[in-house]
Amino acid sequence: MSIVDTLKTRSGNQCELCRSTDNLMVYEVPPATADADKCILTCQTCHNQLSGIEEIDSNHWRCLSEAMWSEIPAIQVTAYRQLKALSAESWAQDNLDMLYLAEDIQAWADTGWHEDDDRLPTVDSNGTILQAGDNVTLIKDLPVKGGGFTAKRGTAVRNISLTDDPKHIEGRVNGQRIVLLSQFLKKM
Ligand SMILES: [Zn+2]
Repeated sequence: MSIVDTLKTRSGNQCELCRSTDNLMVYEVPPATADADKCILTCQTCHNQLSGIEEIDSNHWRCLSEAMWSEIPAIQVTAYRQLKALSAESWAQDNLDMLYLAEDIQAWADTGWHEDDDRLPTVDSNGTILQAGDNVTLIKDLPVKGGGFTAKRGTAVRNISLTDDPKHIEGRVNGQRIVLLSQFLKKM
């Protein structure tokens, strides 16, 4: 069965957040995977606001005070994040105060998502967050595309810069400014 069919069966053909039955589509709960357990069925209104295509209309999300009690982790995670985003509203904060997530679900809710910044953090091979100005070392030999050399394992790269892509940082190796994959670096 396809994900959308699985979700339609699970939800009884309605938005799993606001129960609308219009324009139902799959929302992959970040960090996204094509797995029905990590997806929810939403209407276009919920989907557009969750994906940031449309501005958040706080009144629409009052539906969360019911949806957050779902037994489905993907719905709990989405409700939690959306309530966090709306926590300036007292009704949302009241709901958050009541919402308790199991430890693993809380960890998912906090993964790859930040309250005031929806960008993923740049992390090194150990999962340590990297910031501009950090010094790192390479944990493996990396051929430098277009550079004509291999940056050796153990090479120190000082004063790195972050890029728009959390998977990449920029730094100077052999006098050249190059892009490195953060997963092959270790913070010094
Ligand atoms: Zn909806």
